[in-house]
Amino acid sequence: MESIYPWQNAKWKEISTRVETETLPHALLISGPKGIGKKSFSFAIVQSILCETLTANDLACGKCTSCLLLSAETHPDLKFVEPAGKSATISVDQIRELTTYVALTPHIGSRKIVLIHDAEKMNTNAANSLLKSLEEPPSSSLIILVSSQHSILLPTIRSRCQLLSLPLPSQDITEKWLAANVNTEFDAGLLLALAQGAPLSALALSQDNVFKNRLLQFSLLQQLAQQKADPVSVVALWLKNGIDYSIFWLNTWVKDMAKLKVAATSKFISNPDLFRELQQLSQDIPLQKLLEFQVQVENAAKLLRGNMSRELLLEELLIHWIGLIRKSKKQSLSS
Ligand SMILES: [Zn+2]
Repeated sequence: MESIYPWQNAKWKEISTRVETETLPHALLISGPKGIGKKSFSFAIVQSILCETLTANDLACGKCTSCLLLSAETHPDLKFVEPAGKSATISVDQIRELTTYVALTPHIGSRKIVLIHDAEKMNTNAANSLLKSLEEPPSSSLIILVSSQHSILLPTIRSRCQLLSLPLPSQDITEKWLAANVNTEFDAGLLLALAQGAPLSALALSQDNVFKNRLLQFSLLQQLAQQKADPVSVVALWLKNGIDYSIFWLNTWVKDMAKLKVAATSKFISNPDLFRELQQLSQDIPLQKLLEFQVQVENAAKLLRGNMSRELLLEELLIHWIGLIRKSKKQSLSS
């Protein structure tokens, strides 16, 4: 059964009162940045609605018939949808299945619940199909959408849902929580900075070798700039360390370098421990060029989900990076 993270306590009180007084709307849109626990919060809501004997803080008991069915993912009053397979989208077929389901009366509880994670990934047809259910919701239905990019949902969908926003939690709460949940070798403040303040993303960075690999990956970026390494071998090493994180780190470095062009302080950057190195690395590169490169890195992160060759994608990025360094060196020599 889901528990509630400390930064969600106030919202949980609010929502559990509404569950108790049966004043939840027919459609709820839970929105907020990635890595703060929106999905587990949405499961906690579903569980508390369906559970037969809630615990003291209104969380599901984990023992009743409903809770056991939920754990086994076979509860007849819940339909859960998320992007399927490699396509990374929610298809119209997935949504059509929901619309017929939601029109039926509940089996065990008093509500028929539909939970859609990453709702922004519905394609246009899927979104239009969902709209029909939202326009004429059956009296006992509850549709919960969860999204970290709710602004790209159809406005007609947004306007039919009640917004429940979970903002980025404050650092004093998350840092305390993180410090208690990671190994003592980690600096919780640094992990949080790297994860742009999102506690669960910060926790993920502490797992496996993700964090350790970061400094290794960074030194390879420096070596490329100093012409001590070639892009092909760096690509091979980056791929070995996981391409998603390679591009994630690269993105934070480029963003930080751009920020340092504007204000030379370690206060607002994601990699405060690499402040000097990043400043040195970017000293001859014009801000405009860094911003262009940042767009390319962000596009690469999106293309990763497609069928493009990962080697090619990384190689192009690194060749662009070397080009930036060389051009800016030439310019600074000739000026
Ligand atoms: Zn229960």
